[in-house]
Amino acid sequence: MVRFLSLSSGSNGNCYYFGDDCTAFLIDMGIGARTIRKRLAEHSLSLDSIDAIFVTHDHFDHIKSLGTFTEKYHKPVYLTRTLEKALRRNFCTAGRLSGSVRILEEGKEAIVGDRLRITPFVVPHDATQTVGYHFVLDDERFTVMTDLGDVTEDAVRFASMADHLVVESNYDVDMLMTGPYPPELKRRILLQHGHLSNEQTASLLRRANHASLRDVYLCHLSANNNTPAVAFESAKKTLESIGSQASLHCLPRSCASDLFTF
Ligand SMILES: [Zn+2]
Ligand SMILES: [Zn+2]
Repeated sequence: MVRFLSLSSGSNGNCYYFGDDCTAFLIDMGIGARTIRKRLAEHSLSLDSIDAIFVTHDHFDHIKSLGTFTEKYHKPVYLTRTLEKALRRNFCTAGRLSGSVRILEEGKEAIVGDRLRITPFVVPHDATQTVGYHFVLDDERFTVMTDLGDVTEDAVRFASMADHLVVESNYDVDMLMTGPYPPELKRRILLQHGHLSNEQTASLLRRANHASLRDVYLCHLSANNNTPAVAFESAKKTLESIGSQASLHCLPRSCASDLFTF
């Protein structure tokens, strides 16, 4: 049985837990380790039993506690060469990852432990480099894309290989344009290296539609330019329009999600 728990999702911090009875890992550590520990414990899961941490990119909301945690517990940290170089210079992680780093190659599947097959793929976003992850654990196929500004061919390709898709649905265009953000920040979000709007997420779902898609989890929702209800409605309409039976969930920003099992 595979378990999935989102511990936090959004610009306030990202951390996602996946595991089965033998293997457990996190994607990103963008909130404090104490909070991660507490939220895992509420579901009888343990941070000490984590076998690995995978990093998507070098923004603070994805690596906040990565350095301090790794320095203390020496868990393996998997990331691309480009991100490893960036994290050597980042104030959160500089000098703290040595000995723990395991390099992944973009677009190439790696086998971690006995059971996990995982592939990082590059997505457009304004970090040094940003990757999504496609992985297979106990025959369940997952694709996770937390921050991306555009629906690329690779994003569609890896989404269309997933039974369970975790994808950003960051903002509603009208809410963003009429909202309080300064013009430069609006522009940054709208750019192809910013974040996915609900409409772009809908277009990804249409293009990646396939019969074996079972779950869609909307992640990294903006607190100011979106609401769970608006994002959910947009994706729900899209899934209905393409005849998809996939179940749909919004991942909460500042608390853990339900524990999902497959
Ligand atoms: Zn982010
Ligand atoms: Zn980011």
